[in-house]
Amino acid sequence: MRPRIAVIGSGPAGLAFARVLHRHGHPVSVLERDPARDARPAGGTLDLHEGLGQLALEKAGLLAEFLALSRPEGQAMRILDTDGTVLRDWGPRPGERANPEIDRGQLRDLLLGPLEVQWGRAVTGVEPNGPDGVLVEFADGRQETYDLVIGADGAWSRVRPALSPVTPLYTGVTLVETSLDDVDTRHPDLARLVGDGSVAVYGVNRALVAQRNSGGHVKVYAQFRVPLDWAAGPDPADAEAVRSSLLALFDGWAAPVLELLRHGAAFAHRPLHTLPVSHTWPHVPGVTLLGDAAHLMPPLGAGANLAMLEGAELAESVAAAPGPEELDEAVRAFEEQMWARAGTWAQITTTGLDRLVSPDPAEALALFDDVQPS
Ligand SMILES: Cc1cc2nc3c(=O)[nH]c(=O)nc-3n(C[C@H](O)[C@H](O)[C@H](O)COP(=O)(O)OP(=O)(O)OC[C@H]3O[C@@H](n4cnc5c(N)ncnc54)[C@H](O)[C@@H]3O)c2cc1C
Repeated sequence: MRPRIAVIGSGPAGLAFARVLHRHGHPVSVLERDPARDARPAGGTLDLHEGLGQLALEKAGLLAEFLALSRPEGQAMRILDTDGTVLRDWGPRPGERANPEIDRGQLRDLLLGPLEVQWGRAVTGVEPNGPDGVLVEFADGRQETYDLVIGADGAWSRVRPALSPVTPLYTGVTLVETSLDDVDTRHPDLARLVGDGSVAVYGVNRALVAQRNSGGHVKVYAQFRVPLDWAAGPDPADAEAVRSSLLALFDGWAAPVLELLRHGAAFAHRPLHTLPVSHTWPHVPGVTLLGDAAHLMPPLGAGANLAMLEGAELAESVAAAPGPEELDEAVRAFEEQMWARAGTWAQITTTGLDRLVSPDPAEALALFDDVQPS
């Protein structure tokens, strides 16, 4: 008898898990809260690292397709002073493929491939140790039972409470996201400012980052240290109110940089939360967590990479387990490995956020020089 396996969530973690398991011929139920594939915007671009996200795609048999879709030129990075002076202008060498970029929507579609996601299945809770396995409860009142339930349901996981009482804490940094379309024709000056990759500007406790996505789309992220209730002020649906608040926060910055905010179409508030750096839990047979559900950390280019590699690795271990005891041992061993690696990255990204949105903008530049190949 094959184990009944469910993965909750179809983000990078859940899809990588399901796709690799599918490659090994194992059935898996993918249960996703969103009512449809395109129910909400997929989000901005992701850089997938060699040895992390790219390794996951290799395990899924999708690396060649990823490399064909990805944008190695998107690795370019320009850093400006708040007065607009260019401080660094880094571009990848020809053939450099350490961290190529891909749009989230493209990555999702690549991972989805033949998978059949059950859309509109919001999970409300999970009860391990039931007489017939792990009980999964849904918002519509339905219940289902599985032998193994994987919580890949992100920051505000509904699976996590079955394993751990910990909840995400506010970092002190809020991010407001906006975007511009068709920049090359509608905003050629901003297109040049952003270049092929990203432009970042660091001030005192503030940062503004703009990233080119495919198709002339640019995502802009304003980041700043404010109390959590800042977002309760300007209504995100009132674009002009948010724009005014942001322009006040970034007052005095170079005009071309502020143009990125002036032309932003719609705004979304994302107060940044994290789980404790070394979040672990006592092993519970039949339930585990992946990705942000397990180790939410600041968004500094690691979260989706880790989520995907964890999904792929767990799927390989599950597929190789001949029976229920080996399956449980495989999950237990996977958790140890995930905690060790994620803990290292959580520390790196937590320190990184402190340096990027810092009282001393020179810290951000120093961090760039520490990590960027010259
Ligand atoms: C602005 C920003 C930029 C980032 N840039 C990068 C980057 O360049 N590189 C990188 O590696 N990481 C990046 N990250 C981090 C990355 O987005 C996350 O770490 C990654 O998406 C985590 O994947 P996940 O599958 O664990 O969770 P998620 O992507 O959050 O997916 C969770 C899924 O579960 C579903 N779900 C939630 N609750 C339920 C429920 N109750 N029932 C059923 N389904 C549910 C959700 O709808 C969603 O589809 C960035 C994050 C942000 C905010």
